[in-house]
Amino acid sequence: MSQLPVPLGTFPTPVEPAPRLAAALGLGPDDLWIKRDDLTGLGGGGNKIRKLEWTLGAALAEDADTLVTTGAPQSNHARLTAAAGARLGRDVVLVLRGSPGVSRSGNLALDGLFGARLVWAGEVDRAGLDAAAAEVCAALRTAGARPALIPFGGSSVLGARGYVRCGEELREQVPGLRTAVVALGSGGTMAGLVAALGSGSVLGVDVGALADPAAAVVEFAGAHTGEEVTADRLRVRRDQVGSGYAALTGPVAEALRLAARTEGIVLDPTYTGRALAGLAAAVRDGGVRPGEKTVFVHTGGLPGLFGHADAVAFAEEGAVGHGG
Ligand SMILES: *Cc1c(COP(=O)(O)O)cnc(C)c1O
Repeated sequence: MSQLPVPLGTFPTPVEPAPRLAAALGLGPDDLWIKRDDLTGLGGGGNKIRKLEWTLGAALAEDADTLVTTGAPQSNHARLTAAAGARLGRDVVLVLRGSPGVSRSGNLALDGLFGARLVWAGEVDRAGLDAAAAEVCAALRTAGARPALIPFGGSSVLGARGYVRCGEELREQVPGLRTAVVALGSGGTMAGLVAALGSGSVLGVDVGALADPAAAVVEFAGAHTGEEVTADRLRVRRDQVGSGYAALTGPVAEALRLAARTEGIVLDPTYTGRALAGLAAAVRDGGVRPGEKTVFVHTGGLPGLFGHADAVAFAEEGAVGHGG
């Protein structure tokens, strides 16, 4: 692949010990580490920066003047595309599922601050969202612009390159790493880690964004490794989806509280909260064991917490007040 990335983030991100969280999960004090990919810098940080370095590198090589991408209203990828567009001096159009009536908190507030233009696609499925984005690109071309369409979630063979690098950082930072635990959304993050670390060393916790997330990981990882990546070799848990991507489940609420109260770490209700709930379940059923080195990959998403009314209400419940 001859593409070059455009530097956007601050790397390598740190790895920190998490002994109190480890103990709460039933692991030994030296067993659990957190890869702080929430601290990638630009636009509030998060995992999408690593993928955007590659997909936007390709857009710049094509001399695009407008970046177009798609997502849910609280998409971290959309927010970070908006931030990257500002950094690179390019216009950004975000084609979002839903209608303009939704609350403009969380990521949506930041999309506005970064100056992105929002196009609401209505209650469409993934194909409908892609079709709306194609229409937006066609209209931009007719108007004389040079749009580049950035894939859903920033995930593609090219975008996954960014997570190959994260896996290489982890190999150096955590010798003897047995399992890297990560949220699995559009698949590019897990794919890059699988390519760098091997299928057996990555546990993906599905968040319910795709019908067949393992197929996406196979598609995006294969080009980057000599290992044959097949769906049956991947470690994927699908037990944390609950009633869907946008729902705050009991185990996720518990995970948010646990990370906050043991390590002062904030997780989000859609991705990282599910990843920690999946790790807790894996410790219970033996998929992850004490005495093994485990890394929890913190992929960011903090603005999404403030864009999720149920999660904010749950967080507020924890406060202990005096008087009225
Ligand atoms: C998008 C996202 C993920 C999932 O990454 P994919 O590459 O889409 O699978 C995980 N965590 C956060 C906070 C995200 O925004």
